[in-house]
Amino acid sequence: MRLSRAFLPTLKETPAEAQIASHRLMLRAGMVRQTSAGIYAWLPLGWRVLQKVEQIVREEQDAAGAQEILMPTIQTADLWRQSGRYDAYGPEMLRLKDRHDREMLYGPTNEEMVTEIFKGYAKSYRDLPRNLYHIQWKFRDEVRPRFGVMRGREFLMKDAYSFDLDYAGAQKSYRQMFVAYLRTFARMGLKAIPMQADTGPIGGNLSHEFLILAETGESQVFLHKDLLDFDVLSQPVDYDGDLSPIVDFWTSRYAATDEKHDLAAWEAIPEAQRVSARGIEIGHIFYFGTKYSASMGLTVSGPDGKPVAPEMGSYGIGVSRLVGAIIEANHDENGIRWPEAVAPFKLAVLNLKQGDAGTDALAGRLYEAFAPDALYDDREERAGVKFADADLMGYPWQAIIGPRGAAAGKVELKRRATGERVELSVEDAIARVKAG
Ligand code: ATP
Ligand code: MG
Repeated sequence: MRLSRAFLPTLKETPAEAQIASHRLMLRAGMVRQTSAGIYAWLPLGWRVLQKVEQIVREEQDAAGAQEILMPTIQTADLWRQSGRYDAYGPEMLRLKDRHDREMLYGPTNEEMVTEIFKGYAKSYRDLPRNLYHIQWKFRDEVRPRFGVMRGREFLMKDAYSFDLDYAGAQKSYRQMFVAYLRTFARMGLKAIPMQADTGPIGGNLSHEFLILAETGESQVFLHKDLLDFDVLSQPVDYDGDLSPIVDFWTSRYAATDEKHDLAAWEAIPEAQRVSARGIEIGHIFYFGTKYSASMGLTVSGPDGKPVAPEMGSYGIGVSRLVGAIIEANHDENGIRWPEAVAPFKLAVLNLKQGDAGTDALAGRLYEAFAPDALYDDREERAGVKFADADLMGYPWQAIIGPRGAAAGKVELKRRATGERVELSVEDAIARVKAG
């Protein structure tokens, strides 16, 4: 994308309403625009990141055997009356009426709807197991929307729902999602720690929250240091095989939010191995048995011909919250430092003398080598402005091209994460950025 023609509106001033770094940086870098409390429009830069995050989530869900669908945002109240949650959900639910006075709602989650859909097709135990997910906007009328997209009212969530014949099957589905979550977050450059959690309004009896550590996190967390040192992506995963060893590694070491904190277990850990910090919840998985299948009349015929209510689980990831969380974990005083996997553009090409035949030619070559995953700062602007904007927007690589270097066929390559700079020929610079 050529910056001279792009809609990438940066702000010079720090917006007063933004209390935390990610919110400030998302506004300053022109990623999002608040349209009303807790509701955001995604501008080109933010939208590119959101799509990259979403795509990683999708790939890892698919790899774990879940299948993508798309359910609507608007649901009928009747559906929620069947499970008993219509009244139970409270003021967080946005309730609407259509022109026929029928009660509707903007979905805060989709257990009821997916159960109803599945019920329309699943007849026998041979239709199990299945795991269906979608990536769709949700609405929760939060009391205190804050921290930008991290606690919005309208937000993008990936939610998956598993259906199994029995408890053993449901545990397998749960483990598949558990491992898929570890991989998903690791691919985004995040160290996410699964922690035992309460099941809240979803109900049920087994649940883990995935949190990343960040000073601005809303929860206090306590964990064993081993969990931070483990490299999740070092081993390939066979989702059809036994995943218990991986899950056991994570669940046998202490990790808890303050609600579940067990002081005796904590004090049994050698002090040097204890990490207590703040955390941001980015995902949450639940096993809840037959809560929804039983209340909504979903049964299939079992191997013995008798009806069985499938065992279910649900698995959420805060896709839009992740964009903020990634920035919380990756920024400095100059701006964002995107991990490559989710960067809006891999490379920014900074032409320091637009209109100079030498710099234009070199910048053009570099840009062509990476377009559309490159941003070309071809504005008639001072070098200082270009440097500051590139640092703010946080592209992993900057190729800086001035007239003197260009005359010698050289570009300066800067790595945003470390600040390291090297002077290279165009070919070497291209190879270096490609190598990552
Ligand atoms: P929280 O405890 O942060 O309010 P929750 O437990 O209510 O979240 P879940 O029902 O577990 O949320 O939803 C799944 C995921 O959706 C969460 O792990 C989180 O990443 C994301 N999420 C939930 N509420 C919001 C929100 N208001 N804004 C952005 N993302 C959210
Ligand atoms: Mg939760």
